[in-house]
Amino acid sequence: MKDSKTTRLLIRDATVLSMDAGVGNLRQGSMLVEGECIAAIVPNLNRDIDLAGVEVIDAKGMIALPGFVDAHRHIWQSPLTMAAADTDLNSYFAQVPGKLAPVYSPEDLWIANRIGALQALNAGITTIFDWCHVLHTPEHADAAIAGLRDSGIRAVFGYGFPNTEPAWSMDSERPVPEDIRRVRRNLLASDESLVTMAMAARGPEQSTLEVTRHDIAVARDLNLLISMHAGNGAFGLPYRSIERMHDAKLMGPDLQYVHGNSLTDESIRRIADSGGHLVCTPTIEMQMQFGYPAATRALAAGVRPGLGVDVVTSTEPSLFPQMAGTLQAARLQALEQGTPNIDSRDVLRFATLDGAASLRLERKTGSLTPGKQADIVLLRPTALTAINDPIGFAALGASSSSVDTVVVAGKVRKRGGALCGIEIEELQRQLEACRDRLFEKSGFQPPHADFPD
Ligand SMILES: [Zn+2]
Repeated sequence: MKDSKTTRLLIRDATVLSMDAGVGNLRQGSMLVEGECIAAIVPNLNRDIDLAGVEVIDAKGMIALPGFVDAHRHIWQSPLTMAAADTDLNSYFAQVPGKLAPVYSPEDLWIANRIGALQALNAGITTIFDWCHVLHTPEHADAAIAGLRDSGIRAVFGYGFPNTEPAWSMDSERPVPEDIRRVRRNLLASDESLVTMAMAARGPEQSTLEVTRHDIAVARDLNLLISMHAGNGAFGLPYRSIERMHDAKLMGPDLQYVHGNSLTDESIRRIADSGGHLVCTPTIEMQMQFGYPAATRALAAGVRPGLGVDVVTSTEPSLFPQMAGTLQAARLQALEQGTPNIDSRDVLRFATLDGAASLRLERKTGSLTPGKQADIVLLRPTALTAINDPIGFAALGASSSSVDTVVVAGKVRKRGGALCGIEIEELQRQLEACRDRLFEKSGFQPPHADFPD
């Protein structure tokens, strides 16, 4: 892919929502990017900044904010948009991991991961956690990582497990494949690269406690962040995952838990006490009837949640509905249960800085801060829209089509509403061919196949 390489870039006259208390929000401000990093953010361009040879993006009328952080997504599902639109968790398990996952080839996974990461970039997501559980062979792991690298996104690759049969993911007695050590040693040894590594662990809701103990020990030996689903609605409830992990002394600040809907307040407090992290994926959680998102209960316990898309099989690949869903659910829950209320500033922070912290990346990204990596999004209001509250607009009024410009580590990946250096028609053809192969090999029938009856 051809990069639009920029060594010095000036984003001029935007409304700046920095998510950094020291920088604050600027009604009008300009940002100088040098190499991969933000060099300066100023309210008025003064003559001290030498503008010779600087590429200028005129951002007047646009809102600049840190690139969004999608803290939990199974990117391999990118060809499967709305393939499980109306399913509950059990039928999702049967159809998507059960039927479709086993037929993925390494090439399918490369296409899915590259295009899935581009779907995210298009939506203003500059950092994504790829919870990858279709690693049937070492070649699958190689292909998944290559797809992320080829997209230009900042990614944390969560090394998962094969998904060739239920024995890998339902009360599994199989330890994480040894190939995880090869990937850490040979492919993702550095924690400073654009693509870094974590473990996508099955935890007590998908494997035995012995396997959980083993897998966590492997991750800690490799110095990897550990992400696992926990409190997965009614499905997760009987496993009492947090209590059992607490009793086994397995919790810690290197754990990131996903969902949390059916966790007790006591379990959430244990996550807080251990310094662990929580990620909510509200649209999926509500659609699959997991219960209220755990965001406000977590906040009350002292855990600031990140947000994730989770699966595009029944939601769109952006964080905009996640922010709205979190806020709306919190308002309803406050009314019904007296939990704390939140506002649009909270959900914007969940989708940026708090998500970065849940991936242990907050020193690099998640806010517009001089010295941090230049991961920046510019939102352009659609025609016939008056901006009265930039924070409210960014959190609740925008969509992927509002994303005008996306910068990752100083490189412009989207500009003027279009992904840079990407042959969209060719990728669309690849995506549909991949989807056709997967459906044919698995015998999967998309929902509402009887349309238009
Ligand atoms: Zn998930």
